[in-house]
Amino acid sequence: MAPLPIVLYNDPVLRAPAAAVESLTPELESFIADLFETMYEAHGVGLAAPQVGRSIRLFVMDADVMAEDEPDAPRFGKQVFINPKITAVGPAAVDFEEGCLSIPDLRESVRRPDQITVEYRDARFELRTDTFDGWVSRVIQHELDHLDGVLFVDRVGSFKRRLLQRKLDAIDQGQYVPDYPYVPRHG
Ligand SMILES: [Zn+2]
Repeated sequence: MAPLPIVLYNDPVLRAPAAAVESLTPELESFIADLFETMYEAHGVGLAAPQVGRSIRLFVMDADVMAEDEPDAPRFGKQVFINPKITAVGPAAVDFEEGCLSIPDLRESVRRPDQITVEYRDARFELRTDTFDGWVSRVIQHELDHLDGVLFVDRVGSFKRRLLQRKLDAIDQGQYVPDYPYVPRHG
């Protein structure tokens, strides 16, 4: 296993709709292990395959650290989502600050449904349908967006987005470097 370099803002792979995963091969299982290692090394709670340059519909998540101050919050541990699809959303929408390993040093509040139901294949490629709330729902929606070429900064209002653009341009120009392995832009 080895941590993989993470691609940063404006890399075209982050804008491409990712391809469905056909089957779970030993190579893919090894890739999933690498994704987890990469995510933990970067102190992330979710990481999508396109963020390491592989345009397939798969992401990993371990959001338990976000529940540290909430003893009653559900803990899911390491989760793999393959070919995920949101099949239902709850009525409530909530604002919450998000960040992204592909957009270092930038956080912004994003409004999303609080509850989602997701159909996906798990780490054993078994088809599941589960409903998630709160933190975990938030991470899943953020990561699922990556599989459709959508970034959280696309979901903030146009006024805020203009304020963020200078920072985004600076990331694209290599002026912000994360403290985890990454793919240099224009390098
Ligand atoms: Zn992200």
